[in-house]
Amino acid sequence: MDHVEIRNLKKVYRASGENEDVYAVNDITLTVPRGEFLAVMGASGSGKTTLLHLIAGLTASTEGSVTINGVCIDTLSDRKQTLFRRDHIGFVFQSFNLIPTLTAEENILLPVLAGGGHHIAKEKLRSALDQLLERLNLTGRRHHYPDAMSGGEQQRTAIARALLLDYAAETEGTLLLADEPTGNLDSANGEVICKLLRELCTERKHTMIVVTHEPAVARWADRVIRLKDGKIVEDIPADKLEA
Ligand code: ADP
Ligand code: MG
Repeated sequence: MDHVEIRNLKKVYRASGENEDVYAVNDITLTVPRGEFLAVMGASGSGKTTLLHLIAGLTASTEGSVTINGVCIDTLSDRKQTLFRRDHIGFVFQSFNLIPTLTAEENILLPVLAGGGHHIAKEKLRSALDQLLERLNLTGRRHHYPDAMSGGEQQRTAIARALLLDYAAETEGTLLLADEPTGNLDSANGEVICKLLRELCTERKHTMIVVTHEPAVARWADRVIRLKDGKIVEDIPADKLEA
């Protein structure tokens, strides 16, 4: 069974006044096999974020279906969708939203402070924290506050926070969705993040869907789709990607 099956998916934003409706996602059919690292590219406004939100069930579609692990998420009640998301989907979003009065380490532990991960042993959380700090080159920054960190360090901290609970639970086969996870970063920082995401595909059998406008990021993927006006206009193996 494929991990994600998208059929004839559409999202139309009805315009008020005399503007035309916007087809943010316009009849997308797409299958993502388990363990694949898929990059979604395309110009600003081409529908990348909308597609990601539809897959996550964060936005309701206008037409079509999204099936994850064989479960058609469109037919679930809001509550079941929320639980499904919690148990099967991870997010890495672009905004840092680090809390300025907490250190890097405390920010990463925020999902725990917020009441998550109570089913995970303390030692596992501690070990996951240490490993993520190490893998994201943040060990020397763990006691720093956000305003004493570079933009890249802040973004890596936000990514560690997004991954912490899933990493600590040693879950396999999570669907990880990332929207421009390396936005505004230099290539060295971007590489640290891409390398970790790539390794999670292999080590944890996760499936990765990463929205990016950077060819350097897409090169870490197995496959690249390109969107234009809400449609898939290119679907190729990453190694065939042109500069
Ligand atoms: P991308 O992430 O590729 O930049 P988006 O998915 O954010 O593109 O947007 C796709 C299109 O849908 C754009 O034309 C955008 O203006 C429009 N759009 C996105 N969200 C909304 C919304 N909430 N209301 C109306 N139009 C929207
Ligand atoms: Mg976007």
